Order: sequence, then structure tokens, then C-alpha cells
Amino acid sequence: MKKSFYIILTIISFAFQCLGQTNITLSNPEAQQILFGNYNPADYTPSVIINHPDSILHGIVNGVSKDTLINYLLKIDSYQNRNTGSDTVSETRGIGAVRRWIQKKYSEYRAECENRLVVSYMDFDMNICGQSHHRNVLAVLPGLDTTNKEILVLMGHFDTRCQGACDTACYSPGMEDNGSGTVLVMELARIMSRYAFDHTILFATVTGEDQGLYGAKALSTYLKNNNVQIRSVFNNDVIGGIICGQTSSPPGCPGLNAIDSTHVRVFSYSQLNDTAWPSPHKQLARYIRLHQEEKINPLLQTPMTIDLIITEDRTGRSGDHIPFRQKGYPAIRFTSRNEHGNGAGIPPDRQHTTGDILGLDTSVPPDAIIDSFYVDPNYLRRNIIMNGVNLGYLALAPPSPTPEFSLSGDTVVITMHDADTVYKHYRVGIRSRHSGSLYFDTIFTFTNVTQLHLPLGGSDENRYLSVANVKNNVESLFCAEYNLLPVGIGNHLMNNWGIKMYQNHPNPFTEQTEFIIEASDYYNIRDAALIITDITGRTIRNIPLQIFPGKNQVTLNNDGFVKGMYTYSLSVSDKIIATGKMSVY
Ligand SMILES: [Zn+2]
Repeated sequence: MKKSFYIILTIISFAFQCLGQTNITLSNPEAQQILFGNYNPADYTPSVIINHPDSILHGIVNGVSKDTLINYLLKIDSYQNRNTGSDTVSETRGIGAVRRWIQKKYSEYRAECENRLVVSYMDFDMNICGQSHHRNVLAVLPGLDTTNKEILVLMGHFDTRCQGACDTACYSPGMEDNGSGTVLVMELARIMSRYAFDHTILFATVTGEDQGLYGAKALSTYLKNNNVQIRSVFNNDVIGGIICGQTSSPPGCPGLNAIDSTHVRVFSYSQLNDTAWPSPHKQLARYIRLHQEEKINPLLQTPMTIDLIITEDRTGRSGDHIPFRQKGYPAIRFTSRNEHGNGAGIPPDRQHTTGDILGLDTSVPPDAIIDSFYVDPNYLRRNIIMNGVNLGYLALAPPSPTPEFSLSGDTVVITMHDADTVYKHYRVGIRSRHSGSLYFDTIFTFTNVTQLHLPLGGSDENRYLSVANVKNNVESLFCAEYNLLPVGIGNHLMNNWGIKMYQNHPNPFTEQTEFIIEASDYYNIRDAALIITDITGRTIRNIPLQIFPGKNQVTLNNDGFVKGMYTYSLSVSDKIIATGKMSVY
């Protein structure tokens, strides 16, 4: 009797967990209407419009305050425990008190910007660590041009944990993970609400990360279910620490106590972790690095280097950008180069322990002022500038182009069409497979033309080209990459747009051979064909294909081939996009 009662209880609680986040609502209907694009921009136009990109760049670089960051971090620390299941009633301790404080700060920024920043909770229900009701804290800065309703999301989680995922009693300061990301979002809400952007910016401080990304899942589900278009998602998690622990989640830390305050890792998804696949997430990451190098570093005393990472997160770890990426939104994660621990929560590593404090008072005698920082406020400040400037540029940027690529002799011709022709100012980013580089090797700028000529052919390099529209000196995101790929036959070049055909196997063959065609998860192609031609160019076979995301296998039987060399080609919409040679013996 007693045993079956517990079994039923277990089933009920399991079912409750499986429901995911339910009743996802915004406490402020005004914020909802802005996110949906249903508002009059005139209602949110400041009395003095500051929207010049240089003004915003300098304003952010000079505006982020190290003292504000320290004060905010110490305030957050004072709540003792921010576990998702912790106290929601107390004014001095637990997750309820901290989220009310964040809400109060957003409301203060609102008062400082003519009430243009709209503040709301996002409520959702789910049983997490014994709490059934949870709140993200949001601030929305409405864009002033609603013709394109794409919004931008800046995110950081404010919950913390100790070794026990549901330990609501421990002291859990979470300064590196993720007080740093929390104050990053808050400080940019404060500064950026002074300016006017074309696109709406959502500043999102979210909960439930440490138990399973639940706050970000609720937010991304809500936006997706309501068809909100998102241009970019920046997730900041572990963004202020500079010291390696005994352990850390790779790639990153060079060794115990190593210090690095000049590098940041930007993680983003690529199919199969292959640099060749087209990835809007990687294109977003490249955009960030471009601006760091060209716009921000010249203004910093200590320049920053962005390490583009091929994987979506550290080995064995995950983060709040992933639910957004899974729903098709371009999303990246910013994380310090060095981390103090691997998340296991075992001292002396500080991550997920009571040791994740801001730093130490090392004065003799102690003067109660922290003077040795684990979370370096200067490093955090530079990371906030990195986020803010890029967010600002993206919120002013035109849409990315949809150009046509073609080859004329050894020259790549990029033709801009329709709406893209109005800019007459473009940048072409090129990276080469040989260098294995995730970042652009070269950038060309074109002005007063709508057809771009690049003499790139005749090389044995495999290269990727993408184009950005430029409006008022602000680049759009770069478009999907075009693959300039020389192959063996007369140096033909292929545009594979994320479709890769491998050499047939076996080759040579007598009875049968197989072709593998791999497509990225953006491609589902109905009108493809495998075309076999003989050495005179005569078509021997034309095999219609459908190509699905992932690996597609095509088997070719020798049903009457004469011995000799053949060319095989993959065509999509009657365009040859890949060719190779095979022989029958
Ligand atoms: Zn975290």
C-alpha cells in the first residue's frame, strides 16, 4: 500500500517535470505588444534622438562604469543564495529578493530615459527544486523603425548553484557564474536606453539555467510561439573571471592559476563541428570579432581578442543560447577564456561552490575593501563594451543581403538584387579552408557599385565568401557563405551552399559504387540530380534525387557502363554545384 503510493507519487512528479514550462506570460502587456511589433514608434521617440553609430560607440566605451559593476555584484552577493528553488518571500535572501532588485533597477533606468525602457516579468510554471513558479526579468527598448520587426536579445542568467543542484541553504554567491553576465545585461540596459535604435532590444535576465536552461527555454518558447523574429541572441555566462582552476571545461584554460584578461571565447553552433558548413551563428560570431578589431580595440587601452570556437559550448556543458539556436534563431555564447572549475562544484575550484566570490580584501590590516579580484571588473567592463557596441550596431544595421554569386573566367561576380541595390556599399568577407580559419582572412569593401568583381579564381584554395550591406557605415550581418571550391576538372568551381558531395566509393568500381551527399540542416532539396557523363560530355545517366539534411547515400549499379573515365555531377535546380571523376573497369 505504502509502496504503491510512492510509485504513484513518483509518476506524478515525473509527469510534472516532463510538462516543461507552462503558463508562460508577461506581467506587463505593454512589453508583450512591443515584442510583437504592435506599437507606435512615436510613443517611444526620445526628445533628443542620439542614433549616430559613432556617438553610440563612444558612449558605450566611455559609459560602462567599473564602480557600478562592483556595487551591483556586491549587492547580488548579499542575497546569499540564488538557487532557482530558493526563497521567494524574503526581502534579503533568495531568488525572489534578487529578481525584485533587478526589476527595481530596470525601473530606475526607465525613469532616466523618459520611460522608454519597458519593464516586465516573464512568469512560468514548472517544478524546479520544489518551486513551481518562476520569473525571468525583462526590459524592452522599443525600436523606432517597425518596418522590419526583428528584435535583438541580450541575455544572462541570474540563478546560481552549489554542488547540490537544489541546495537552497548554501552560501552561493555566483559572482563569476553568473553575477558577471547578470550585471552585463543590467549595465547595458542602463546605458543603451539613452540611445535610439531602429530595432527593439530585449534585455533578458533569466532564471533556472543551472537546473536545465529553464528560463531561456521559457523565453525562447514564448518568442517562437508568438512568431517574434530575432536577428541575434547574445548569451553571456561566466564572463568576468580571469583565473583558471584545477579543472575547467575545455577548450580554454592553459593551466592552474593561469590568468588571462584579454581573450574571450565566443561559442556557436556548426553542423558536425565542421568549419565548412554554413552557419548563421558563426556569421554572427564573425560580425562580433570584426567590430572588436575595427571599431572597439582602437578605443581601448587593453585590446581584446575574440576566440571563435568551433563548438557550441564547452565540452560536456551547455548554456542558454542553445534553446534559441534549436528554434532557428542565430545565437552565440560569450564566456571568459579562463574558468575556475568545470561545474562539478568541488573546492578549491570556485565554480558552483561557496567560493565563487568577487575577490579578497588583502590589505593589512583588512579594510573591508576588495582589492584582489577573481571577477576582474576591468575585464568585465571590456566584455560589456564588446556586447554593447555589437548590439548597438546590429540594432541599427540593414537586413543582410541575398546576392547572386557567379563565376566569369577567374573572376567571382557578386550581383546585388532588389532592395540590396539601394546601399551601393558592401563588404565581402573571405575565409579559406586551407588556413582552417573560422574568421575572415580578407575583407573587401565596395562602394558605388551593385556588381562586385573579385579576381579569385585559378587558385587551388577552397574559400568561403559572404557579403554584408553597409548603411551609414554600419554593416548588416554577412549573408550565407558561398563556397568557392576548385575541383579537379579544369579547375571548375562549385557553389555548394552547404551541400558536399564526396568522392564515390569504391573507385574505380566494377559492379556498383556509392556516392555520399551531405547537406546542412538548412537544406531539404527536391529538385536535385546525379548526372553521369562520359569523356565526350554525353549524358549517360540522369538520376533524380531528393536531398535531406545530413548524409544522403546514392548507389549506382554498373548496368551497362563501358570501361573508362566518367564525370559525375550533382545538379540542384538545373545548376551543377559539384563535380568529380570516377572510373569503371
Ligand atoms: Zn552559468
